[in-house]
Amino acid sequence: MQPVRPFVDRDFRCEILVVGAGITGSLAAEHLAAQGHEVCIIDRQRPGLGSTTASTAMLLWEIDSSLNDLTAMYGFERAAGIYRRSFGAVSGLAELVNTHSLACGMRHKRSLYLAAGKVGARELKTEHELRMRAGLPGEYLDHLTLLEKFGLYREAAIHSIGSADADPLLLCQALLNVATMHGTRIFDASAENYDNSGQAVIVELDSGHLIEAKHVVLATGYVMPDFLDSSLHKISSSWAVATPPQPASAIWRDGALIWEASENYSYARTTNDNRIIMGGEDDDQVIEPEARDRLMPAKAEALLHRLNGLWSHAEPVAEFVWSGAFGTTTDGLPLIGRVPGHPRIHAAFGYGGNGITYSYLASRMIAASIAGNDQPWFDDFAIDRDAPEATP
Ligand SMILES: Cc1cc2nc3c(=O)[nH]c(=O)nc-3n(C[C@H](O)[C@H](O)[C@H](O)COP(=O)(O)OP(=O)(O)OC[C@H]3O[C@@H](n4cnc5c(N)ncnc54)[C@H](O)[C@@H]3O)c2cc1C
Repeated sequence: MQPVRPFVDRDFRCEILVVGAGITGSLAAEHLAAQGHEVCIIDRQRPGLGSTTASTAMLLWEIDSSLNDLTAMYGFERAAGIYRRSFGAVSGLAELVNTHSLACGMRHKRSLYLAAGKVGARELKTEHELRMRAGLPGEYLDHLTLLEKFGLYREAAIHSIGSADADPLLLCQALLNVATMHGTRIFDASAENYDNSGQAVIVELDSGHLIEAKHVVLATGYVMPDFLDSSLHKISSSWAVATPPQPASAIWRDGALIWEASENYSYARTTNDNRIIMGGEDDDQVIEPEARDRLMPAKAEALLHRLNGLWSHAEPVAEFVWSGAFGTTTDGLPLIGRVPGHPRIHAAFGYGGNGITYSYLASRMIAASIAGNDQPWFDDFAIDRDAPEATP
């Protein structure tokens, strides 16, 4: 059930104001409220109807940048630490869903990271060895083993445990329901202006009313307010298709989450009713909804073509086609933490393909920051971190 969301009809104070009620805001609100904070959350549209509803919700711990690439950028120890946190974030999210029995269809999943583009068998072998060294799970599958076990024709793959999938909108709504049970109040409002000059943050709403908060959490998806900037951040769009339900024989082994080791990768998963969802065809030049819609037929055809190339046992027909925009960064890591120059404003942006995994991580990091418990490793995700010197 959707929580009731009244308009703001007066000025008021609260301890923590979360702006944005997508998956990031709902995770933050639930966690902060569970810790006993007084939390309010605002959204200018129905909660979850931003990027969250477009998400194919592959809850991967594997990061958009391979461990190999991340090592080239930041050194092995730092890169391995980031990967281990990402692994922990998916486990933490699964535990949260389990603890509250959140009805979001979450399923534990294995993943298949396929050789693609410039990443062949040799590069995947190196990636696998680095992951082993970092204490991460996974097995290297050579061409023949991949073909025999999964019927997939690629040079090689890494097969790993520890990922999941879920219905992102149901997850978001279920989290908001738990948050409201802990006292969180949800309002229909748009944040227009942030005044950070005093001991609190004063947020001006579209209605002209003001909310004064000790801390503000910005969870506005790919939309960054003017005072926040990062040279690492860019917006991109992604498209997805869902086939009609397939016979069980037309689903690959275990319905593993599939994604490719190339920069502009395709990704595929199955659903509870045996549909195949195929996503990708990302484009950072086409962001506006109308422009994305115009490209829909061509992108759907391209995705079905890719699906057919990957897995010819399924009927390459799209029953649903959709697209959405999301924030991403040049190093594949999110921007999480205090906004530089605005110590009471905390933000989470730029999650790339690991959006929901990072949203969970952001909710834990921001709560720790608010409690004055910042950790040295938070710098790995700092909004004002420098662009990596070496890019792979
Ligand atoms: C096609 C597609 C496939 C994807 N697949 C995956 C995947 O498989 N796995 C994965 O982990 N991630 C995936 N992602 C990324 C993931 O969807 C996003 O990272 C995630 O949904 C971001 O959630 P969010 O809550 O931060 O943003 P959003 O869901 O966009 O929520 C932001 C909210 O803030 C509100 N808002 C914005 N500005 C204001 C304001 N000024 N005042 C009030 N409210 C405001 C908006 O109305 C919105 O509801 C995918 C994205 C797309 C587009």
